[in-house]
Amino acid sequence: ESQVTARYLAADGEAEAGLRPTSLDDFIGQPRVREQLTLVLRGAKLRGGTPDHILLSGPPGLGKTSMAMIVAAELGSALRVTSGPALERAGDLAAMLSNLVEGDVLFIDEIHRIARPAEEMLYLAMEDFRVDVVVGKGPGATSIPLEVAPFTLVGATTRSGALTGPLRDRFGFTAHMDFYEPEELQQILARSARILGVRIAPEASAEIAARSRGTPRIANRLLRRVRDYADVRADGTITPAIAQAALVVYDVDPLGLDRLDRAVLGALVRSFGGGPVGISTLAVAVGEEPATVEEVCEPFLVRAGMVARTPRGRVATAGAWEHLGLVPPVDLVI
Ligand code: ADP
Repeated sequence: ESQVTARYLAADGEAEAGLRPTSLDDFIGQPRVREQLTLVLRGAKLRGGTPDHILLSGPPGLGKTSMAMIVAAELGSALRVTSGPALERAGDLAAMLSNLVEGDVLFIDEIHRIARPAEEMLYLAMEDFRVDVVVGKGPGATSIPLEVAPFTLVGATTRSGALTGPLRDRFGFTAHMDFYEPEELQQILARSARILGVRIAPEASAEIAARSRGTPRIANRLLRRVRDYADVRADGTITPAIAQAALVVYDVDPLGLDRLDRAVLGALVRSFGGGPVGISTLAVAVGEEPATVEEVCEPFLVRAGMVARTPRGRVATAGAWEHLGLVPPVDLVI
């Protein structure tokens, strides 16, 4: 995987851990998802059973992992963590499932990347809390049924469309996480600054919030970078002027587009005359994985009103041409 993919899809490790919200009340934004999840969890608690399986979908960095941790915490259950790519063989999943204790929450990140045999085993585990483990090969192979303790699966995906129908159908509740509003990001930044012991002026956090691509992970990351700047070049206090100067150093433009976003827009406009162009062609033009362009860049560019998806491919809007300092073609209708 390229550096950019790694930078976006990987979490920031320890730096991020301390900033995670730990309860539904602590979680800022996504009011609908929070209300729906509260009902799902309270309903299960009232009846004394395990809640339905939960699917969280949305672009990277919007709080899916944090939400999975919160689900376990709210239920007072242990959280077991794995990911789709780690479940290459059915045996990997069988091992994970057989270790579960009643009430556990099993978190599978990037669940759309789970291998087929593991996925088929997961169907049965989700529905009947059992798995069939196949022992041996060829005509002598036997299948041994194994009971699994009742658990709640929390799956996270950046591409709910890539999930097979049977897998999607086995989730009792699907939450779509959307990009955050600047005011919500500002609240998240204020909370993070408190935790990190950073002094930041409200106008400065507004400045960072406006350039965070609607994404809490990016807001927190920019806060840490701006703090470096404030510590090294000033007295540590983040003023609006310090925030602006630091964001220039880190190559974040006024709309929050980063280098890859701008490369995608630039290719779309300059190499393909504004489109329409397919996502793979676009990805090749910027030297990036199609999945990264589709799951990381495109959702935000669409949300920012710069790219439109059409049946014939991606098209740059007038806003995209203008953002790059170019004049849109006269016949552009989008
Ligand atoms: P995802 O799993 O969707 O990629 P994460 O749950 O790992 O996203 O969130 C990334 C980081 O963003 C977290 O470490 C946390 O600091 C921050 N974060 C995400 N959502 C929120 C929120 N609603 N409130 C506060 N911080 C958040």
